Amino acid sequence: MKYLFKEWETVRKKFKGRRLLLFLDFDGTVVPIARTPDKVVLPDESAALLSKLARSPQADVAFISGRSLKDVRRRVGLRGVVYSGNHGLEIRGKRINFTVSLPLGYHEAVKKISNILKRKASSVPGAFVEDKGLSLSLHYRLADKKSVPGLRSAFYAAVASFLSCRKVRVRPGKMVLELRPAVDWDKGSAVSWILRRQTRLPGGRNIFPFYLGDDVTDRDAFRALKGKGITVSVGRNKRLCADYYLKNQSEVVEFLRRIYGELR
Ligand SMILES: [Mg+2]
Repeated sequence: MKYLFKEWETVRKKFKGRRLLLFLDFDGTVVPIARTPDKVVLPDESAALLSKLARSPQADVAFISGRSLKDVRRRVGLRGVVYSGNHGLEIRGKRINFTVSLPLGYHEAVKKISNILKRKASSVPGAFVEDKGLSLSLHYRLADKKSVPGLRSAFYAAVASFLSCRKVRVRPGKMVLELRPAVDWDKGSAVSWILRRQTRLPGGRNIFPFYLGDDVTDRDAFRALKGKGITVSVGRNKRLCADYYLKNQSEVVEFLRRIYGELR
């Protein structure tokens, strides 16, 4: 995997004169991963740059986050930007209002599971349930180690019947269990959907996409854009299979600065 800034001349030639579509993950990409995710906001400099990019007729900006749509939209707080939440399950923007088709009875299933898990979590200090609308997470990072097996088995017991009738799927994460709808739709699907839509608009054939992300869930988007644009992993993680890498979130700001410089 090559360092993006070292190959800048090559990259620049590829996108020069094209209309850019900048796909950005949020946490770990434009902002550092925070201990308390609810305190994260977009720094002023990045917000100003992204706002200028979004207003430029030669660029569009789309955020593709694992947070809920409402949450990522509030934290980024920019107009004229496309937002996708819950790892692509929902997409909103100018004349865009998309939610993936959910399995029948999905919301009712999540509600039932949520009630059971909230009751369980309330009896375990440090455990809590995060409701992201289309998905639900049981967090136990702050819980006592001894209570983890009990929490996990309560989680699997609560979802068992909905798992077997394929209404929900479970995604285990770092000290968290996430419940999602049983649909084949990920960040890659959302990126392809947005790209397809934008290329159909006037001047859309000239679009050149970038995707910047830091996590395994971004790998689906990297895959979806293979050969169609340029993918960049934030942090040198070879397993993400991106075309290039940047070292950290400050280099992402530098990247945005360079891109904006090229458009002027
Ligand atoms: Mg991330």
